[in-house]
Amino acid sequence: MLTNKVALITGAARGIGKQIALRFAAEGCHIAFTDLAIDEVALATRDEILARGVTCRAYASDASDFHAAHEVVAQVQKDFGRIDILVNNAGITRDTLLLRMSEQQWDDVLRINLKSAFNFIQAVSPLMLRQRSGSIISMSSVVGLNGNAGQANYAASKAGIIALTKSAAKELGSRGVRANAIAPGYILTDMTAALPESVREEFVRMIPMHRGGTPEEVANVALFLASDLSSYVSGEVIQVNGAMA
Ligand code: NAD
Repeated sequence: MLTNKVALITGAARGIGKQIALRFAAEGCHIAFTDLAIDEVALATRDEILARGVTCRAYASDASDFHAAHEVVAQVQKDFGRIDILVNNAGITRDTLLLRMSEQQWDDVLRINLKSAFNFIQAVSPLMLRQRSGSIISMSSVVGLNGNAGQANYAASKAGIIALTKSAAKELGSRGVRANAIAPGYILTDMTAALPESVREEFVRMIPMHRGGTPEEVANVALFLASDLSSYVSGEVIQVNGAMA
């Protein structure tokens, strides 16, 4: 479905980003991915992607650094010649109640989760506009739609992703560039493994499908949004949450 396309995925050494990279690679897509460090975990991810018979390069880059984001996009353009798909996946949590939240916790989450997406959308847009095609996919969250106690910073950043996505879809649509968001619920990755067991059990109890989702299940929706199957879908938010909301 993505033969000879090029995807740039941020924060893809592990978790959801990694599975999106593998799913796209299985469809013939060449992969450029970033993470904070290209360590053993990231190199193992790169090797798994290469094993699917596509080109893959990993770049150490902080997605929240405006200049670094522009530099890495220029480098990917040089290395691959084009960028057809951007996945804004890099994200963090710094959970605590609103009354206890430090300025640092607020700033870090907004910078890494929201500003990173702005950095990359702005950096890839001139190229996608020239190509007159492109698919931009950004990771929001169920809490970006509903809010969550203990996650005011994270929920605000993920709501911001939705508004950024809808605005980008309106600005870029006339030249064939689409922008959509995915709002996952409770997905089993390192990010959610860090939650206390009681919180994880409560999630499973609350979710009508009575289980967490897998990164593969999110990657399948990303594949739909990246491919021509969604050629008239833009400015949309697709929830992947086992009916959690
Ligand atoms: P994860 O923590 O398993 O992986 C995130 C990756 O992003 C890591 O490899 C990390 O090193 C990288 N990263 C962090 N900051 C970065 C930065 N500044 N620059 C570049 N890379 C950076 O997380 P995950 O569960 O795979 O989540 C991926 C995305 O999906 C995130 O945006 C997250 O908010 C979102 N999401 C996850 C869930 C869930 O339940 N796991 C639910 C909703 C949304």
